Amino acid sequence: MYKAFKFPKSLKKNLFHYCPGCHHSIAHRLLCEVIDELNIQEKSVGIASIGCACFLYFYIDVDILEAPHGRACAVATGIKRAKPELIVFTYQGDGDFAAIGFNESFHSALRGEKITAIMINNTVYGMTGGQLSPTTLPGQKTTTTPEGRDPNLYGYPPKLAEIFANLEGVAFSGRFAVNTPKRVLETKKAFKKAFLAQIYGLGFGYIEILSSCPVNWKMDPVTANKEVDKLAKYFPLGTFKDEVEKFLKGEES
Ligand code: SF4
Repeated sequence: MYKAFKFPKSLKKNLFHYCPGCHHSIAHRLLCEVIDELNIQEKSVGIASIGCACFLYFYIDVDILEAPHGRACAVATGIKRAKPELIVFTYQGDGDFAAIGFNESFHSALRGEKITAIMINNTVYGMTGGQLSPTTLPGQKTTTTPEGRDPNLYGYPPKLAEIFANLEGVAFSGRFAVNTPKRVLETKKAFKKAFLAQIYGLGFGYIEILSSCPVNWKMDPVTANKEVDKLAKYFPLGTFKDEVEKFLKGEES
């Protein structure tokens, strides 16, 4: 009998430690499905960041390294340059990628490093208790902005997928979500493109996923899942740059 739904080979059969309703686990599964479908498990190296996903090695069955806080793209750059035959990806949260590691993330994209960067954007520092992060929405309450983020004091959240799309070194950039079945399927396609950008040597692949953090948002999982729609009003979903599609069309013609 044909099995339409299989457990991904590169996903370890360990119980996730994530809070109920957290979207990290969905992102992990999609990532593993794509690793399997592209047949890159044996040559993939993941760089985990500091944060809720620091135990990436516990779930994803590829070589995983842990970078110091914010330095995942720098570590990925070193590995990819030393061993260009490997497929190297980072898996980072918004605090790690866009605050502490912004310099490394941005300059890796500027240089067009042939790596894939995955940024899980849940608008707070999740593991440390829900503090303001760069992507906290204007007006959003966090433990360090109990009255809501005031842009006059803290500035505005950066729309990194759009910013990266304007960099020459970037081959794929987009923002996605996994709070509906349709969006899960779209996100999976985007994962594949972000890896193909690297596989075809086209440049930096960036994929941002709007993600729920029910515990720090102080919501139940169902409400937090719906709340992602509110995030998507500020951070539009979509593909902002896709050199992979152009490359594939060129191959066909
Ligand atoms: S704190 Fe937030 S991001 Fe971290 S595991 Fe819990 S729900 Fe997920």
